[in-house]
Amino acid sequence: MADILGKLELKKYELPPLPYKIDALEPYISSQIMDLHYNAHHKGYVNGANTAVEKVDKIIRGDIQGYDWQGVVRNLVFNINGHKLHTMFWNNMAPSGSKGGDKPGGAIGDLIDRQFGSYDKFKLTFNDVMKSLTGTGWAVLYYDKETNGLVMSTIENHFINHIAELPVIQIVDEFEHAYYLQYKNNRNAYLDAWWSVVNWDNAEKNLGKYI
Ligand code: MN
Repeated sequence: MADILGKLELKKYELPPLPYKIDALEPYISSQIMDLHYNAHHKGYVNGANTAVEKVDKIIRGDIQGYDWQGVVRNLVFNINGHKLHTMFWNNMAPSGSKGGDKPGGAIGDLIDRQFGSYDKFKLTFNDVMKSLTGTGWAVLYYDKETNGLVMSTIENHFINHIAELPVIQIVDEFEHAYYLQYKNNRNAYLDAWWSVVNWDNAEKNLGKYI
């Protein structure tokens, strides 16, 4: 037990470095959006996750009385998922001209072709899924090891529609903070532009952990 705990040192959540410069996704995603999105929103989720974990620790120690577990858990999950989903989202994009917007190859390309017939057909379908989201959330492409199939879905907010065990292969942020400064209320224009920075190399890397 002591040996295991020695290796499993408790750590705090941290804001990971962006895999490219803040203006690298221009003109599809402006540097103003990226700056706020990464340095304010994502950092806020990291701080919120650490604060939420501390709060649970205080409750366990008996330092806080009269807490509301429903609210505590909701806040904890909202912030931890907010942090983790954004980390995936940054890596699922790349500057146009350097992987960004390229067609999928490798195993992910094969899976897409088998299931959808072609990448163009996949794009049409995933566009429909993305555009079907009402309110705030994410569009997600999962892989299900049980069927060897891809599953398209949306996650409302940061957690509603979560599917257990299915790893995220590709994800798109549809919160207003992801596009409003540049695209105003035209979310579809942002979603159309996202295809120019999608990073299938990273999706292939994600998939490789599970097949
Ligand atoms: Mn976001």
